[in-house]
Formats: sequence, structure tokens, C-alpha cells
Amino acid sequence: RVAATQKRTVSFHADTEQENMERRVSLLGELEGAIEREELQVWFQPQLDLGSNEIASVEALVRWQHPTRGFLAPGHFIPLAEKSNRIDSLTIYVLRKSIDALMAWCDEGIVLRAAVNISARLLSSRSFIREIEQLVSTSGIPRDRLVFEITESATLDDPEESTAALHRLRALGIAISIDDYGTGQSSLSYLKTMPLSELKIDRSFVQHAHKEVSDAMLVRSTIQLAHELGLTVVAEGVEHAECLEFLRSAGCDIAQGYLIGKPMTFDDIRTITAEYSRKVA
Ligand code: C2E
Ligand code: MG
Ligand code: MG
Ligand code: MG
Repeated sequence: RVAATQKRTVSFHADTEQENMERRVSLLGELEGAIEREELQVWFQPQLDLGSNEIASVEALVRWQHPTRGFLAPGHFIPLAEKSNRIDSLTIYVLRKSIDALMAWCDEGIVLRAAVNISARLLSSRSFIREIEQLVSTSGIPRDRLVFEITESATLDDPEESTAALHRLRALGIAISIDDYGTGQSSLSYLKTMPLSELKIDRSFVQHAHKEVSDAMLVRSTIQLAHELGLTVVAEGVEHAECLEFLRSAGCDIAQGYLIGKPMTFDDIRTITAEYSRKVA
């Protein structure tokens, strides 16, 4: 019986791997056209400022409204885009949509900042950095409205080149955040060498921090460390009211998670921002 089960499992895996590979290859081929056809959508997740109790910022999160495969989460295509040069154009697209959204909210009197995810490997692309400089300076977006969340799927190609790129972005007024802090490659040496403004504690530490002693300890000491370095702290993955209370008591600056709001459309950000403003008033 055990042997039979194992055999079934093996052949099942073989099938899905083959399928997965085919799916990946075809998705990658479709991605460039998808950007041109505007099949990619940028959704926004609200971030709650724990000092003012208002929605002060949003994180831009890309989705793909695929004509046959349905609504695809970024996990299905970002890793593919990162392995090819499609991540450049995708990121520029998301940044452009985010700037448009910020300006449109601003016209309605809603002043927000937007955090855009930037794959760490893009930092070693000079042409990408030049394109960002051009886009940001011609867009008319006020300085200090953009945050770049640096996400890593591998170690930085070239730490010196990347640090130089971050300095150029800072010179544009863009704040730099380390995403998913505490997991992956991000390390204490980053805190020492990179011109950071913000540290974003990974969801895996935050989610249960109100009931897991070790998580609480890690979150609290990370907040303290970040504050001593002069960094703003964002906690991601806040799903429970108890967790939000814990973060407040630990001195966290900004909270993001399903408790406050899931990623949503441009219009829904307008609504939730107004709701929080009313609560404060
Ligand atoms: P991330 O930057 O760490 O974004 C947070 C992810 O956690 C989002 O998933 C968000 O929907 C999810 N999330 C937020 N709050 C909660 C919560 O309370 N509970 C749980 N369980 N999940 C929560 P999403 O949108 O699927 O994005 C996944 C990842 O894809 C992002 O992780 C980011 O690394 C990447 N990504 C998304 N958009 C872009 C983009 O435009 N460019 C790049 N390079 N990467 C992107
Ligand atoms: Mg992020
Ligand atoms: Mg994150
Ligand atoms: Mg994360």
C-alpha cells in the first residue's frame, strides 16, 4: 500500500512539474504583451499610521487579469519576470500607475504615499535607475511621496553598485524600505551600509506576535533596533485586533494587513481613507 501511494505521488509530481514548466514558459511569453494591453492591474493595500490613526500610505501590488487563466496573483509571474528582463518594464509600469493614482487622490484632497516593490536585482541596472530618475522628475510628483520596498529573491548581484543606486534614489526624495525583514538574505550589514529609511518586518514574525512569546520578542527588539538607527518600522501581515494592540504597545509606526484592509482598487482606497479620517475626527 505504501509503495503504491508513493508511486502515485511520484507520477503526480512529474505531471505537475511538466505542466508547470509549460505554463511558466507561455506566461513569460505573454507578459510583455500583457503590459502593453494593460492586462496588469495595480491594486493598493492601505497602511495605517499608528501615530495619527489615519491611512497615510498604500503599498502597490500588481495583479494580472489574464484573458484565459483568470486573475493571477504576483507569485505566478513576478519570479518569472525577475528571471528575464521583463521585470524592468513591469516595475516602471507599476510605478507609473502608482504615481498617477497618488496625483489623482491628491486632486481630491487625499494625500498619500505609495510604496512600490523593487526587485533587488534591478538596483544593479543603470538603465533602470536612469529611467526611474526620468519618470520621477518629469511626473511632477512631490518629493517624499514614494517609498521603494526592496525585495530580494537572491543575494544582491553587486552590493556596491546597489548601494550607489540607492543613494541616487534617495537624492530624488524616494524613501527606501527593506521588505520582508528578518527572512531571506537581508542582514544586519544592510542596516549598516545602505541608505535606508524604513524597515518592514516580515509577516511570519508579525502574524502571531500577540500570542507567541518568541515572535513578540523578535518584533519588539527589531522595532527598538530600527528606531535606534532612525528608521521607520512597518509591520506587515496584521490580521488580528490583538496583534494591532501589541504593535502599538511595542512602538511600531505603521501597520499593514487584512485587519486594516486587503489590497483593493483605487476607488476603495478613497473610501477607507475617509472612514479612518472620520474615526479620528
Ligand atoms: P510583499 O511585498 O511582502 O507584499 C505583501 C503580500 O502579503 C501581498 O501579497 C499581500 O496581499 C499579502 N498580505 C498583506 N496583508 C496580509 C495579511 O494580513 N495576511 C496575509 N496572509 N497576507 C497579507 P501579494 O499581493 O500576493 O504579493 C506577493 C509578493 O509579490 C509581494 O510580497 C511582493 O514581493 C511581490 N510583488 C507584488 N507586486 C510587485 C511588483 O509590482 N513588483 C515586484 N518586484 N514584486 C511585486
Ligand atoms: Mg512589499
Ligand atoms: Mg513584504
Ligand atoms: Mg512578506
